[in-house]
Amino acid sequence: MKTILAKSAGFCWGVKRAVEKAHELSQQHSSVYTDGPLIHNEQMISQLNSENITATNKPTSIKDSPLLIRAHGIPPKRRSMLNNLSINITDATCPDVAKIQGLIRKHVKQGYSIIIYGDKGHAEVVGLEGYAEGNSFIIASIKDIADIPNIQTPVCLVSQSTQLPLAYKEISDAIIKRFPNTVILDTICKSTRNRQQELLDIAKDVDAIVIVGGSHSANTVRLLELAKTIKPTFHIQIAEQLNADDFKNYNSVGLTAGASTPDFIIKEVAARLRSF
Ligand code: SF4
Repeated sequence: MKTILAKSAGFCWGVKRAVEKAHELSQQHSSVYTDGPLIHNEQMISQLNSENITATNKPTSIKDSPLLIRAHGIPPKRRSMLNNLSINITDATCPDVAKIQGLIRKHVKQGYSIIIYGDKGHAEVVGLEGYAEGNSFIIASIKDIADIPNIQTPVCLVSQSTQLPLAYKEISDAIIKRFPNTVILDTICKSTRNRQQELLDIAKDVDAIVIVGGSHSANTVRLLELAKTIKPTFHIQIAEQLNADDFKNYNSVGLTAGASTPDFIIKEVAARLRSF
């Protein structure tokens, strides 16, 4: 089957940077800890575990090993707590996430309340919320706007880095109706925009779409939401989940993957699709 593989499929630069830092540390130390799972991909986590790179939720029990802060970033209070431990800390917060954190901090200092468009409980959003120092509201959809109480301060709207631009525009329009002078910041990262745009471009020329990525990966979920609006879409995590019968009515397929999907999985999926 003709298979068009997106150039942007797989690790974004922020995830690549974090994984490289983990590998560098593992060459210098017998074990490396990450502050929560480094990446939302089970296969990659297994590979990292085999290199003694493991996630921990209890950094207080670390003794001689380094701790890596993942690309999603952490709230300032957690950073202070970690800095007070006598351990070696390496920060792999993605610079694009750090930029949003800085914008939130700056606007809170200027007296703004922050509305964050993102997935409540997602590590990046937890970090962003921390920078708002209690002056934030998280919304995951337009209907959540009704739950925001009346805000007396100026309002600033930011988005989690991996949201869909079209959805953010709809959210922005709805927020402006409720809080007319809201400052709207464009905080969807370039890597996310490129990946989503390439998916739209490829979708025009194929009969179906395959998205590879972890079910907890926010940017994979966004790719799925987008693809499903255009073409029949299949979501898998590994090549073995592909079934030839599912594709018998299609001549061509577009293939892309979330920012935490390693290259070896994408190659296996592309090879299997081409064999159908
Ligand atoms: S998706 Fe964007 S913000 Fe998130 S880690 Fe990748 S490059 Fe950074």
